[in-house]
Amino acid sequence: MKIVLFENPGCLEKPGFLSYMVVAVRYTSLTHPTFRIFAMIPSRVISYSPAYTVVPTYECFNQCAYCNFRAEPGQSPWLTLPEAELILQSLQNQGICEILILSGEVHPRSSRRRFWFQRIYDMCKLALFFGFLPHTNAGPLSYEEMAQLKKVNVSMGLMLEQLTPKLLQTVHRHAPSKLPEVRLQQLEWAGELRIPFTTGVLLGIGETQQDWWESLEAIARIHQRWGHIQEVILQPYSPGERQIWDAPGFDLLQLPEIVATARAILPADITIQIPPNLVQDDNWLLACLEAGARDLGGIGPKDEVNPDYPHRHYQRLPEILQPAGWKLMPRLPVYPQYDEWLSVELQASVKRWRMR
Ligand code: SF4
Repeated sequence: MKIVLFENPGCLEKPGFLSYMVVAVRYTSLTHPTFRIFAMIPSRVISYSPAYTVVPTYECFNQCAYCNFRAEPGQSPWLTLPEAELILQSLQNQGICEILILSGEVHPRSSRRRFWFQRIYDMCKLALFFGFLPHTNAGPLSYEEMAQLKKVNVSMGLMLEQLTPKLLQTVHRHAPSKLPEVRLQQLEWAGELRIPFTTGVLLGIGETQQDWWESLEAIARIHQRWGHIQEVILQPYSPGERQIWDAPGFDLLQLPEIVATARAILPADITIQIPPNLVQDDNWLLACLEAGARDLGGIGPKDEVNPDYPHRHYQRLPEILQPAGWKLMPRLPVYPQYDEWLSVELQASVKRWRMR
């Protein structure tokens, strides 16, 4: 074990942050430079996950007005397992660790639901077979589905988006999966099942400022009960070419202040994540970091949810961050404090990455 000196002792005043650092010290024996983030985390480190997104299907029975992802049910062929295998094979030895399985949704009462679920499960298994670490976000799941997917995922995710029911009259009018109580139930179940979880809020879809804080407070409450939320994404709504809603994007000038308030609301052991492709102004990105964001999420060739906003400045990120004193470091899709929640098999897969 090695003692780590922190550049900013002020951060130790936050109790959750301190325990996070204690976990960090346990990993100081790791030797590979790429994944040493939790072994040498200084106060000005910003993390990201080297990721690739696999989409089993774009079809979705919801119709969110701002969606740039969905296809009509039955109008988009599902990705087959042999196709997925070819993709995964081609990704080996490229520094990618996380496979984000991101899927449109088949209605829970559809006769196709079990085939859809099986396809997702099999793709996770395939990703594990090739040595990657899967993280699935496939919309609301039954308790049994979630328990099954826990066996083949190191973490999972679902955006809370916003808690206010008034969006059911507007952008979510045709999106039954966006019922706030359904989303809250998912967060509760994930906690009960001890699934390391990523959630977040979508900003600028018709909610008020008060709605932001209420959504974040709800996440904080659930985390205090179960301790399973590893990250909260603050995602600015960014209009794309395929959506049906005609509305300007979220005013990014507000984002640093929202980050700061979110940091005050959320427990200190939850990391705040900002998608850098949606905050393309370098100064505003840096302002979000100064305000408390510490993660840039999964970065890969394509943001499937926001296809009009590729990670153009991925290679440039260090150039933007370093002059301001930030160090960009890769991380795994599961944070070290959750490793023991995983099955023995998944722990072995994670350990192989941590030992690299
Ligand atoms: S945002 Fe998600 S749930 Fe809504 S229509 Fe698009 S894919 Fe479906």
